[in-house]
Amino acid sequence: MEDQPNTGGALSDTGSDTLRQPVAGDTLPSGHMVPQSIGRYRALTARHLDEIPQLGKLSADDQFAMRVVSSVLPFRSNRYVIENLIDWDRVPDDPLYQITFPQREMLRDEDFARMADLVARDATTGEINEAANEIRVGLNPHPAGQRELNIPESDEGVLEGLQHKYRETVLFFPSHGQTCHAYCTFCFRWAQFVGDKDLKIVAKEETGLHQYLAAHPDVSDLLVTGGDPMIMKASSMERFLRPFIDDPSLGHIQDIRIGTKSLTFWPHRFVNDEDADDMLRLLEDLTEAGKHVAIMAHFNHWQELETEVAREAIRRLRNTGAVIRCQAPLLAHINDSSDVWSRMWREQVRLGMIPYYMFVERDTGARHYFEVPLERAWEIFAGALNQVSGLGRTVRGPSMSATPGKVEVLGVQEVHGEKVFVLRFLQGRNPDWVGRPFFAKFDPAATWFDHLEPAFGESKFFFEDDFRGMLKGTAMADAV
Ligand SMILES: *Cc1c(COP(=O)(O)O)cnc(C)c1O
Ligand code: SF4
Repeated sequence: MEDQPNTGGALSDTGSDTLRQPVAGDTLPSGHMVPQSIGRYRALTARHLDEIPQLGKLSADDQFAMRVVSSVLPFRSNRYVIENLIDWDRVPDDPLYQITFPQREMLRDEDFARMADLVARDATTGEINEAANEIRVGLNPHPAGQRELNIPESDEGVLEGLQHKYRETVLFFPSHGQTCHAYCTFCFRWAQFVGDKDLKIVAKEETGLHQYLAAHPDVSDLLVTGGDPMIMKASSMERFLRPFIDDPSLGHIQDIRIGTKSLTFWPHRFVNDEDADDMLRLLEDLTEAGKHVAIMAHFNHWQELETEVAREAIRRLRNTGAVIRCQAPLLAHINDSSDVWSRMWREQVRLGMIPYYMFVERDTGARHYFEVPLERAWEIFAGALNQVSGLGRTVRGPSMSATPGKVEVLGVQEVHGEKVFVLRFLQGRNPDWVGRPFFAKFDPAATWFDHLEPAFGESKFFFEDDFRGMLKGTAMADAV
C-alpha cells in the first residue's frame, strides 16, 4: 500500500511511528506479549489426515470413519486449531474437535454404509466422487431458497456473487474469499467447499458490486461473506473496499460488515501474517472515513477465546475502530448448554465484543447430528440470557434464517389453554413483517420453521399471502 500516515489506532501498539510488524516475544505498551507465530498458514485437508499425529489416539474404526465422512463433507484444519484449540485429552467430546473433525454420525447410516464400502475396497476417485456428489445432493445443499430467490439482476443479467434478500443489506461473496482457514463440520455453506461448481455462489472478478450498490440508495449495509473473506490477501480486500472511501456514489453505504471465523481458526491473520498490518490499516482507513466497520465474528464456544493470540487479534482489530459483533449457531455436541453460552457472552463482553445473534442450525448438511428442538433452543437461550448483565443481553435468538426471513423464537407460552410458540421476524423479505409477534402451534419435535403451523385454528400465518405474491413466477413458487 502507498504511504499512509500512521494515525495511531491499529498500529499504535507497535509503540513507534515506523510500521514495524511486532515480532513474537515483543512486549507491547499494553503490557501484552506478542504471541509466538506458528509459521505460515497451511491447510490440512482430507489428503493430510495421516500427517496429524494426534489422530493416532483414535481407534482404527474411528480413523476409518473419518476418511469415509471426509470424502463427502468438506474437511480442513490447520496446526493452530489442532495444537492450540483442541483439548485432545477430551476427544471426542471436545467442542473444538467436534467443530472441525468429521464424525461417523454426521452421515446418515445408509450414506455412510455406501461410502464406507467404496473406501474399504479402494474404489477409484471417480467412483468415490460420483457417490459423494449423489449423497451431497440429498443433503439440501442450498437451504432457504438462496439460489432461486436472492440473486439480484441488473440490465446486464444475473449478478452472481451478490445476494439481496433484506432491503438494507447486500451480501457479497468475493471469489477469493470462498474458503476458510478451517471448515466447520456444521457449516451451511459446506456445498461451496466441495468443488462442485453447480453448488457455488461466487462473484466473478468483473462483478457489478459497486455499480449495483451505487444504483440502490436504500442499501445501507454491505456484508462481505464467504467462505471467510479474511482468507483473502489485504490487497484483494483493498480492491473491493477502498472504493467505499474514495467513491462518492457509494456514500450511502454506512456499514461495512465482514463475516469471519478467522479469530477462531487463524488469529495470526491479524497478528503475524505478512499482510496483517495492511489489513488492519484498511479497516482503520474505513472507520476514519466515517464508515462503521463491523467484524461479524463467529464463535461457538468460549474455548475459542482463550488463547493469547486470539486475544491479541481482538485487541488489534478493536484498535482500528472496528466493532466486533459475535454470532453463532446453537449445536448439539458443541454448545447445547446455557452455561457454555453465558460464559461465552460474558467473555465476549469482557474482551470488548458485542453478542449479536444465536442461530438455529440450518436445514442442510449434517443437520440431523447437530439439531436441537426449538423448545430446547429457547430454554438454552433464556437460561443463558438470565446469567449475564445487560451488556450481554444485546444478543437475539434463537433465530432461524428461513425463506421468508429471520424468525426469532421469543418463547413458549400458554394462551387461553393452548400451548404456543411466540415468534417474531427479526428480518423479513417485506420489512413490514418485522417486530410483529405471531404464534405457532407448540410442537415439541419441531426443529425448524417449516415444521410449524399457525396456532388458534388459523389457516395461515399473517405474512403468507404477501409472501406467496412475492414468489409468483420464481422457481420457488411451488415450494411453499
Ligand atoms: C442475516 C442476514 C442479513 C443481515 O441481517 P441483520 O439482521 O441486519 O444482521 C442480511 N442478509 C441475509 C440474507 C441474511 O441472512
Ligand atoms: S468459518 Fe463460516 S463459512 Fe467457513 S466453514 Fe465455518 S461456518 Fe462455514
